[in-house]
Amino acid sequence: MKDFVYTAQPSRVVFGAGSLSHLEREIDLLGARRAIVLSTPEQAEQARAIAERIGNRAAGVFARAVMHVPIETAREAREFARQLNADCAIAIGGGSTTGLGKAIALESSLPVLAIPTTYAGSEMTPIYGITEAGLKKTGKDLRVLPRTVIYDPELTLTLPVGMSVTSAMNAIAHAAEGLYAQDSNPVMDLMAEEGIRALAQALPGIRADATEIAARSDALYGAWLCGTVLGTVGMALHHKLCHTLGGTFNLPHAEVHTVVLPHAIAFNSTAAPQAVRRIERALGKNGVSAAAGIFDLAQQSGAPMALKDIGMRQEDLDKAADLAVANPYWNPRPIGSAQRAEIRDLLQHAYEGVRPN
Ligand code: NAD
Repeated sequence: MKDFVYTAQPSRVVFGAGSLSHLEREIDLLGARRAIVLSTPEQAEQARAIAERIGNRAAGVFARAVMHVPIETAREAREFARQLNADCAIAIGGGSTTGLGKAIALESSLPVLAIPTTYAGSEMTPIYGITEAGLKKTGKDLRVLPRTVIYDPELTLTLPVGMSVTSAMNAIAHAAEGLYAQDSNPVMDLMAEEGIRALAQALPGIRADATEIAARSDALYGAWLCGTVLGTVGMALHHKLCHTLGGTFNLPHAEVHTVVLPHAIAFNSTAAPQAVRRIERALGKNGVSAAAGIFDLAQQSGAPMALKDIGMRQEDLDKAADLAVANPYWNPRPIGSAQRAEIRDLLQHAYEGVRPN
């Protein structure tokens, strides 16, 4: 057993089909009386339904959350929360809505109650991101970690199959990289392996029937585990590449994760044999490598498998490789200017959607 340091994050999780029925109890436990309810425009109806259900505990609805939290949206939402004299932010939706709740909490310390409806995992992390002048700045602050998370699989039944698959692969990416994190610990290793297992097992069921509650429950359970790993230990090459590709070339978040993950795992495999063994065990395909197993899972679930199919241009691959090696960061296999050619190869494989060995 290697030495480790483990700090548990202070958050309360309420899980189960129908658990939205505990919302009023959870608001009261936070000592809140005037909640601002947040959502994207696409989920505005859900946000209004939440406000209606909690009656006079709701102060107002802000349904303008968008991807990557533009500073202008954050300022509007903060101002609206102030005007309402809100004492709690309820975020119903995916990472974009949770991210807006975090942007409010960062300034005001308002407690966030998250009700996740995707598998992105932001609700379990103290990581926030705000985009200003086209640049997304991320940071860590315990004030933004949602105090309470209500995981109700019934709310995920409407997540389209395509988005469910890429969102699940996004979650698996957190766990896979968590397994070879520099600051990994045995508790996160258990959660990461179980998270991958739960999501890999759930995907065929969701694909066969998006409204199958057992598969949806398994997937959301996996998302919770993987999100916790993301919020507790450091990420490496895969997340760095996805941040660069998403931010600089404006590629869609969950799809980029889906395409890049098999190639990042293949790149790191020899340097992280224990992590690879755990991923293979979680995927449960005898004789198939972790990288190929992840590729097969995504492909068999109907996900896009190539950067060229999600908006990347061949002529931008050189720039992407330059950016990926520009600033040194920890990775089980060292990354620096000496590895530029190998990173460029990795990107070419991801661009073409080649199955790794
Ligand atoms: P998203 O929140 O942008 O949601 C995508 C779309 O799906 C939105 O229109 C949303 O309203 C809709 N949607 C969500 N759930 C639905 C449901 N159940 N039924 C129907 N439609 C639904 O997507 P995401 O992938 O969850 O989040 C991506 C964002 O989260 C990115 O900006 C990413 O950087 C951030 N993120 C942050 C962290 C963190 O720790 N800070 C972690 C993961 C992701």
